[in-house]
Order: sequence, then structure tokens, then C-alpha cells
Amino acid sequence: MEKSEVESYIKAGNIAKEIKNFAKEIIKSNMKLIDIAEAIDAKIDELGGESAFPVNLSLNEIAAHYTPTKDDETVAEGILKIDIGVAVDGYIADTAFSIDLTEDGKFKEMIELNEKILSEITEIIKPGVEVREVGDVAQDILEEWNEDNNSRFVMIKSLSGHSLAQDTIHAGLTISNYRNDNQNELDGAFAIEPFVTTGVGDIYEGNAGGIYVLQSDEPVRDRDAREVLKFIKEEYITRPFCLRWLEKENFGKLKFVISSLVRQGILHEYPLLIEKSKAPVSQIENTFIIADEEVWCTTG
Ligand code: MN
Ligand code: MN
Repeated sequence: MEKSEVESYIKAGNIAKEIKNFAKEIIKSNMKLIDIAEAIDAKIDELGGESAFPVNLSLNEIAAHYTPTKDDETVAEGILKIDIGVAVDGYIADTAFSIDLTEDGKFKEMIELNEKILSEITEIIKPGVEVREVGDVAQDILEEWNEDNNSRFVMIKSLSGHSLAQDTIHAGLTISNYRNDNQNELDGAFAIEPFVTTGVGDIYEGNAGGIYVLQSDEPVRDRDAREVLKFIKEEYITRPFCLRWLEKENFGKLKFVISSLVRQGILHEYPLLIEKSKAPVSQIENTFIIADEEVWCTTG
């Protein structure tokens, strides 16, 4: 990895860390998700980063892929996952944390376990570490915790960490959070993200959560659609974006245009990822780099 590339990853990570601290300060129970999202968007901008993807604000049984739209009345309650993506020159910091917004601390233990899993994994991230070692640590810590505390937490096996590349959030490598035999070595930039639940540990795909990405370059006839597409190609290129951002541009028939572009396969709409038994989900994520025999956790 080039030195300048490492520097950009670190810079993105530093901004993401500041955003996490900022989010922890401002988020209160019953705050509207749209107000949280707009404050985070503005802060990323203020700190000189770009959004690598729209901030995911996923509540309770929703594991990922929810971002509020302009008139969204949804408020923060229960357990909220804040998943932030910051890019500097296209080099991405991908990081997430969970907040318990209940008065009786209902999700405190789940989040504590989730944090412990990621911090124990962090201990073994060194040059030469294999993907399967991450899975071993994750599963060992979870099983040990359940035994010691008489708890029944479960890992969501269908959600994994991933390698990162310039302008690419999922760059090919899957980093599972359970025992596996993947002997690939971790190298370059990657994100590790265990998800813990009290449910069955699997997810299903729900409705659209407000996040889209350009997936085909086919021409379109409709004038309104052409204008929206031109803007998307200039502003976001290959990066995911959300309705909230487009709503600021005063396009005609925006919702109609977006759904027709999705139907034509020109845009991909990310479905919500929801725990199969609708049980609450916790997520903790950090980005790492291994380069030239050195290791960084850029977001932790
Ligand atoms: Mn993430
Ligand atoms: Mn990720």
C-alpha cells in the first residue's frame, strides 16, 4: 500500500472517530432520526470528509440499511446502531457503535458483550493473521460469556466484515464472525463488524431503507430521470446515496423517478436487513489496515 493511501485511510479514520464522539454526545432518546442524520452529515462535511455511504441509523430488530428521509418521523428508542462511512480521496473508514436508549438498560449487556468481542478480535490483528482466527475469537468470547453469565446471546452469522478498497465498501473478502476454515490472510484495509442478538441469529431482507447505488449505465428516456441520473453520476459515482440528499435538489417527481430507475435495474435499492425473529440487534465495527508489517485500527 502506498504511503499516501495509508495516510488517507488514517485521516478518514480520524474524522470517523470524531463523528462517533459527536454522535454519542447529541443522540438522546426520542430524538428524530432525521435530525441525527442531518447533524452527522453536516459534521462530516465540516471536518473535511465525504460520506462514503449515508449514515445507517437502524433501530432494534433492524440490523442495517435504514437511513431517514426528509419527512421521517421515526425517533431514536430501544437499541440504535449508528454505522458511519467517511471517505478521504475515496479511502474509507467504516465504523459503527450501538446505543442503549432504554431507561432500564435493557441492552447494556448485549452491547458490552459486542464491544468485548471486537476488542478481543483487535488483540489478534497482526500481519499474517488469517480470517478464520477472527471467527475463532468471536465465537469463543460469545460462548464464554453465555456460560459465565447464563445468557443466550447469538452471533448473526449472515452478517460479516469485509475488505475495503478505494471507493469500494465491499472489496471481495468476507470476514465471518463464527468458526470457519478461511485461511486467507488479512491484509490491506478491512472492516470487522460482529452483530449480536438475542434472536435466532439470521436476517431477512425487508423493504427498502432509503439507501441506493448506481448499478447500470443504460440510457433513460424520461427527462426528469435523466436529470436525476446525471446528478447521481457526478456527485456519488459508485458510492451509495440516499433520498434525503436528493430531496435537497428540488428534482421533479423524485420518488416516482427513483422507483422507476430501481424497476429498470439502473439503481439498486438496499433492502433493510432485519433479524429473522425480530429480536433486537447490536453492532460494533472498526476499520483496520495491515501494511508493511504494521497494523492500525483507524477508527478505534
Ligand atoms: Mn459499517
Ligand atoms: Mn462494514
